[in-house]
Amino acid sequence: MILTTPLIERLAREGEVHVVATPANAAVLANHPSVASVIVYDKRNTDAGLTGLRRVAARLRATGASTAYMAQGSWRTAALARLAGVPSVGFDTSAGRWLYSRRVVYRKDWHHAQRLWALASNPGDRSLRAPESMRPSLYPGESDQAQVVALLHAAGVGPSERLIALAPGSVWATKRWPSYDALASELVAGLRAGRVAVLGAASDASLATAIGTAVQQRGGPPILDATGKLSLLGSAALLSRCAVLVTNDSAPLHLASAMNTPTVALFGPTVPAMGFGPLSDRHVVMGRDELTCRPCSAHGGQACPLGHWKCMRDVEPSVVLAQVVRMSGPSQ
Ligand code: SF4
Repeated sequence: MILTTPLIERLAREGEVHVVATPANAAVLANHPSVASVIVYDKRNTDAGLTGLRRVAARLRATGASTAYMAQGSWRTAALARLAGVPSVGFDTSAGRWLYSRRVVYRKDWHHAQRLWALASNPGDRSLRAPESMRPSLYPGESDQAQVVALLHAAGVGPSERLIALAPGSVWATKRWPSYDALASELVAGLRAGRVAVLGAASDASLATAIGTAVQQRGGPPILDATGKLSLLGSAALLSRCAVLVTNDSAPLHLASAMNTPTVALFGPTVPAMGFGPLSDRHVVMGRDELTCRPCSAHGGQACPLGHWKCMRDVEPSVVLAQVVRMSGPSQ
């Protein structure tokens, strides 16, 4: 959903944009000035089954939308547009492509934000040029900002204190760089001032604890543990306050892109060429490019199929630290 925002902004210049989204994704679009309305599709609960699908289709039809751009390519969303009687445009690789009114080539060599943006291009447009920036946009609201203010206050973080953000989690185990605690320990010595902030879901709390322990053992100040304490837009608001983010190939990377936070992105079983690299003005991607086994899957699996997991294990904390120090300084 975050990477869909450049497409939404483009379409909003021509008319109202109504977005069909899951409850979690709907929250991401709160306060977005280019979104006229969000139609929540809770397919697992209140809108389950064909009855729910018909109900959401009726809501979509009521918007008077002339075209449905299929950012999410399932057969279910394709059927939703059909039921609503709204012509649809989607990728030629999507599961629901047989139900689309028009299919657009899925360009493997483009960033996914650009692929989505190109859904709104006219057929036969051979001179397709993306705008200079495909950076997504998010708009944390007052309640999101208040969450961050409360968290900073509780941790005793001063208004001018520098924050270095770490996002050590991922639902895919092979994407989780295993050396965030070692990096945090080095950060205490490598950066003369600043505090480490850890972002993530509640399930990442143990990773934050390991980082906090490592920092404490080096005599550093207590970390700001934000795992499980912020909404997605709250995390975006915190990132806008951070000098740099170190992250795996996971959601915080895209939050940082939206807030233009300098980013050090660590890629293991996946590679940015798959279309999901960082888009902040200042970013660096790190990974073991010499490994011929990369990438080994579309998302990164739960275990390395070769057993050695060199793509992540061999990314040295000292090398990452050098990039963090470089990226967290003033822009050139
Ligand atoms: S096979 Fe290679 S890319 Fe995949 S998890 Fe193992 S080391 Fe990483």
